[in-house]
Amino acid sequence: MNNTQKEKEEYLEALWEMRERGITSLSALKEEMDKDFDPQILDELSYQNLIELNACDVNLTKKGEEQARKIIRAHRIGERLLYDVFGGEFEGGACEFEHTVTTSLIDGICTLLGHPRECPHGMPIPEGECCKSCAKSACNAVVPLQDLKIGESAKVAYINCKDDRRMHRLNGIQIRPGAIIKLHQINPCYVVECEGGHIAMDEDIVSNIKVWTNVKTFDEEKKIIDKDKRRLWRNYLKKIK
Ligand SMILES: [Zn+2]
Ligand SMILES: [Zn+2]
Repeated sequence: MNNTQKEKEEYLEALWEMRERGITSLSALKEEMDKDFDPQILDELSYQNLIELNACDVNLTKKGEEQARKIIRAHRIGERLLYDVFGGEFEGGACEFEHTVTTSLIDGICTLLGHPRECPHGMPIPEGECCKSCAKSACNAVVPLQDLKIGESAKVAYINCKDDRRMHRLNGIQIRPGAIIKLHQINPCYVVECEGGHIAMDEDIVSNIKVWTNVKTFDEEKKIIDKDKRRLWRNYLKKIK
C-alpha cells in the first residue's frame, strides 16, 4: 500500500471518530491530525468524493463513510484480537493491520471472537456481514468456559495467552481452538472431557478458555465429522475408479 493511501485512510478514520464525539469542524480535524495535517490530502479526499468540505466544516460523504467504516471495523477487531487472544498491548499493533487486512479475514476473526460489539476501549465496532447472518440464525456466542453447565459441551474458540506458562500447560493437555470439550465437574476443581481424556483444572486456568456454546453435542459433532470423512473417502474412491 502506498503512503498516501494509508494517509487518506487515517483521515477517514479520524473523521469517523470525531463524528462519534459529535464534532465536524475543520479546526478540530487540524488539531487531531496535528503535524500530519496536510490540506492537499483533504483536497484529494474531496476530489474523490469521500468528504464534503466547507469553509469550516468537514463531513464524510456516503462513499467516505463506507470506507471509514471498514477501516474502523478492522482497527477495533484488531484491538479485540490482540486484547482477548494475546492478552496484551492493543494500541500499536492494530494500526498497520487495519490498512492491509481483507474484509473476509476481518469477518473470520470477528466470528472467532464471537462477534464482539465493542473494542477494548468501549467504542462500538461496526457490524460486518458475519454479525448480521449470525444475528439472523440466532447463532452461538463466545463465553468463558465457567459459564457452561455440568454436562454441557462446547467448542474451544480461543485461549487468552497472557501468561505463557499457563499456555504451555494448556498445550500439554490438548485444549486448543476447535477442540470439543464437555464439562463434567466444577467442584473442588473443574473437570472437562476433551478428545477422549479427562482433564482437571483450577478456576484460574479455566477463566482463560473461551468457548462457543450451542454447538452440537459431543456425539453429534463426532457423527458429523465421521460422516464428512466417509463422504470424502467415497468421493476419493469414485475418482480413482
Ligand atoms: Zn479501541
Ligand atoms: Zn461478526
